[in-house]
Amino acid sequence: MSETRTKSRNAPIGPSPFRVEAEALPREKFSDPELTAKGEQRASVPLTRLETLWFNTGTLCNLACATCYIESSPTNDALVYLGAADAARFLDEAETMGTREIGFTGGEPFMNPQFLAMLEDTLGRGFDALVLSNAMKPMRRHEAALLALKERFGDKLTIRVSLDHHTQEGHEGERGPNSWVPGLDGLKWLSANGFSIAVAGRLLPGEGMEAAREGYARLFAAESIRIDALDPLRMVLFPEMDASKDIAEITTECWGILGKSPAEIMCATSRMVVHRKGEPGPRVAACTLIPYDDGFDMGATLEEASGAIALNHPHCARFCVLGGASCSA
Ligand code: SF4
Ligand code: SF4
Repeated sequence: MSETRTKSRNAPIGPSPFRVEAEALPREKFSDPELTAKGEQRASVPLTRLETLWFNTGTLCNLACATCYIESSPTNDALVYLGAADAARFLDEAETMGTREIGFTGGEPFMNPQFLAMLEDTLGRGFDALVLSNAMKPMRRHEAALLALKERFGDKLTIRVSLDHHTQEGHEGERGPNSWVPGLDGLKWLSANGFSIAVAGRLLPGEGMEAAREGYARLFAAESIRIDALDPLRMVLFPEMDASKDIAEITTECWGILGKSPAEIMCATSRMVVHRKGEPGPRVAACTLIPYDDGFDMGATLEEASGAIALNHPHCARFCVLGGASCSA
C-alpha cells in the first residue's frame, strides 16, 4: 500500500510529533485469530446492534499526513470513491437494522464527487450524519450545499474537524506546512454558521488529557469557536496507533482485568463499507481502523457482516481495548 502513496506538495517534512515510541511488534503476535502468541484464548467482540454504519468515501485526500492510518494522499486510491447507488443499497439495509447514525470518512469525503448526494440521501432517510473532514478547500467548495443541508436538517448533520493539536506547530508537524490556517478557518466558518460541530485531536507524547483539553479550550475561546473542549463528544482525543509497534494481545481474561466489556468496543456497534480498488463492489469491513486486512473483511452485506470479530490486530489492543491502559495479569 505505502508504495502507492505520493506526498502532497505540503506533506510534513520530519517525523510525526505523535509517533508511538515502542519496540517492534514480534512476528508471532496477532497471527492466529483463536489464540495469542502465548497460547491463550484471544478475545472477540460480537455485534450487539449496528448503531453506526460508516462509509469510507475513498482514500484520496488533499493532505498526506505523516501518520494517516489509512495512508491517504492526493494519489492513493487504494479505496476508490464509493458510489451513491452503492451507498443507497447499504442505507436500505441499515434501515432494517435500527441503525441511528451514518458516518462518512476518507480520505477527505468532500473530494468524492457523489458525496453530497450520499449525504442528502442519508439525512433524507432520517439518519443522523457524522462527517469527518479536514475542513480545508474540498469542503469549502461546497459551502452553499452545506448551508442548504443545515437549513433542512439542522443538527442531524454534524461535521467533525480533525485539528491534530491545539498548537500550529503540533498540527503542522503531522499535517504539513500551511495546513493550520486553512483548517482553522474552515472550522471557524462552520462554527460561525451554526453547524453542529466537533473536533478530533491528539495528545503529544507526555501531554496529559487535562492539559490537552485546556489547550483546546484556550484556542476555541481565542478563535470564537463554539465547542466545549471539556465535552468528550465534541472534543474527541484519540489514542495513537502504530501497527508495527509492540503491544499486548487481548485475551478473554483481559475484560475482567481491565473492567471493560466487549459491548463497549467500537466494533460491537459499528461497521464500515469500503470499496477496494480492483474489487467488483463495496464490502463491509469490521471497523474504520482496518480497511485492508482480509481477516477483517466481513462480507458483501450488513447481514453477512454481523458476526463476532476476533481482536487479532495491534489496533484492537492499542487503540480500542487498552487505549493507553495496560492489561497484564
Ligand atoms: S486529512 Fe485525514 S485522511 Fe487526509 S491524510 Fe490527513 S489523516 Fe489522512
Ligand atoms: S480495531 Fe479491532 S477492536 Fe477496534 S473496532 Fe476494529 S476490529 Fe474492533
